[in-house]
Parts: sequence; C-alpha cells; structure tokens
Amino acid sequence: AKCTENKEFQQGELSDYGNVELSPAAGVLNYGQGLFEGTKAFRGDDGRVFLFRPDQNGIRMQIGAERMCMRSPSVQQFVDAVKQTSLANRRWIPPPGKGSLYIRPLLIGSGPILGLSPAPEYTFLVYASPVGNYFKNGMAPLNLYVDNEFHRATRGGAGGVKSITNYAPVLKAVLRAKEQGFSDVVYLDSVHKKYIEEASSCNIFLVKGNVISTPATIGTILEGITRRSIIDIASDLGYQVEERCIAIDELMEADEVFTTGTAVSVASVGSITYKGQRVEYKIGDEMVSQILHKTLVGIQVGRIEDKHNWVVEI
Ligand code: PMP
Repeated sequence: AKCTENKEFQQGELSDYGNVELSPAAGVLNYGQGLFEGTKAFRGDDGRVFLFRPDQNGIRMQIGAERMCMRSPSVQQFVDAVKQTSLANRRWIPPPGKGSLYIRPLLIGSGPILGLSPAPEYTFLVYASPVGNYFKNGMAPLNLYVDNEFHRATRGGAGGVKSITNYAPVLKAVLRAKEQGFSDVVYLDSVHKKYIEEASSCNIFLVKGNVISTPATIGTILEGITRRSIIDIASDLGYQVEERCIAIDELMEADEVFTTGTAVSVASVGSITYKGQRVEYKIGDEMVSQILHKTLVGIQVGRIEDKHNWVVEI
C-alpha cells in the first residue's frame, strides 16, 4: 500500500512475490528512510494458525516512523496486512515443532527526494517465508562475544527503533565474531563502554538466584516483543524481574544467561567472552530459560492458556 504526503495509507492488495520498482532518488535508497518488522505465524497441534501479538509490531512501526519522520499505516492496517499475508501463505506454514512462517513487514520512503528531507511518498509491504527452527538439532547453547570496539547504537541515535540503518554497521562485528566461532555479539553502551545492551537481533537477560534482570530500554536498545512477553511470563511464574543498567561484570557472574527474540525465541547462553576472558554457564532442561521457552512456545501454539490475550487466531 502507498501513502502520499499528508494522506492516509490506501487499501493494499495481495500480489505474487516479485521485485519492487523504485526511483533512484527514493528516500530509502539515499537517506535510509526504512523500517522493518518481524513476526511469525505458528501452526497449532490441531492445525489452527496463530499470530503472536502482531499489534505490538504495528505499534513499534508507528513509533519508529515518528522517529524517522515517515508516515505509517494504522495499527489496524498493519495487523490486517499481516493477517492477509499469513492466510494467503497458509499452506506454507510448517507443522508444529517444525518451524513457522516468518513475516516481514517493511515501510520505506519510496518517493523521490534530492535534498535531505522526508520522502514525499511511503510504501508499506509485507512478505513472508517459511523458516525452520532456529536450532536445527535441538537447542544448542549460544557462545557470545562481547565487542569492545563496535557499538550497535549510540545515545540519541535510532537504536530504540527498528530502522534498517541499524543493521549494516554491525555486520562487521558479527562476521568477525563468527569467524572466531562465536554465535553472536553482545554490545556495550557507547558512553561508558561498561553496560550491556543487547545482541545483534535479540535482547539479553541474566538470572541470579530467583531474580531475572534485563537492561532497561533507554533509547539505545530495541524493545523486543519477546523481551516484554518474557518479563510478563517470568513475573506470572513468580520470578522477580528487574529492568535496569547491568554492567558487563555482573553478566560474567550470573548463574544463567539467555537471549530472546522472534527468531531465537528463548535461547540459553553457554559462554560469554570479554577481553580474552571466557565464562561458561550451566545449561540443561531445568534452567529458567528452558522453563520460559516452553511456556512461551506453549502459548504461541495454543497449548497453554493465553491469559494475556496475546494470540490471534487466523
Ligand atoms: N534487538 C534487536 C536489535 C532486534 O533486531 C530484534 C529483532 N526484532 C530484537 C532485539 C528482538 O525483538 P523481538 O522480540 O520483537 O523480535
């Protein structure tokens, strides 16, 4: 669907997967006016299909659009487009336990603009692809590398929204870590180089005793929808949950560390390496991360009561 200056987004339409035509002067190509979202459709044991909190992705896109001076679809338009794309691709949704349909909404400045200012036209589109489980052969603990050189976001930047401009700058850090056998990078804050922020596409949590902690979102960390859901699930299960500044030293002394995101769901961390020092964490079925993972997946596929009304059946 398209939207020109000061108008609402028009009603969109379904079409076969194909290329998008853009002016060379499109705002997205020249000044990076682009936002994306990521969500999944899951198949339940009885064949029904569920989305998980798609309204939250729509709200996050609106907040991002405000930050990047873009026009955005209403939350209703966003959710309708995600529903229609999922329904049209229903036959591609894998059976329960075998994966999901990954859905990628995109909002771009599609209108031409030569000088630095907001594009005169925006395009909202949604595409989808079936994906397998993040871990092909059961859960494998992540080995994370704490980068002391690259930052994912700076104070006053766009780290708090899902801007396309946040991702290419960390490719170098990720590739370098992967070459050394790590799964992903943990970024530190750019002011003190001391407080943990998040990994490249997931949020981070630590467990110490009965307390679960995760960095507070102060504009440099993406407010993950999985992060927020896990905070609620953990509180429901009786854990004390804290959102606050967490120094890297504290992470290294945790009982357990895990990450959350649409792609990884909840993933246990096996080790963290920082300035040449490597700490290893216990892993296993009885870990807090595994209890949270089972609960989240249970809700997403309709196996566990959805008391927060997170799940949308389509
Ligand atoms: N942080 C970053 C930088 C991300 O790209 C993502 C993926 N959207 C997340 C965290 C996790 O967010 P969510 O739980 O909404 O997928």
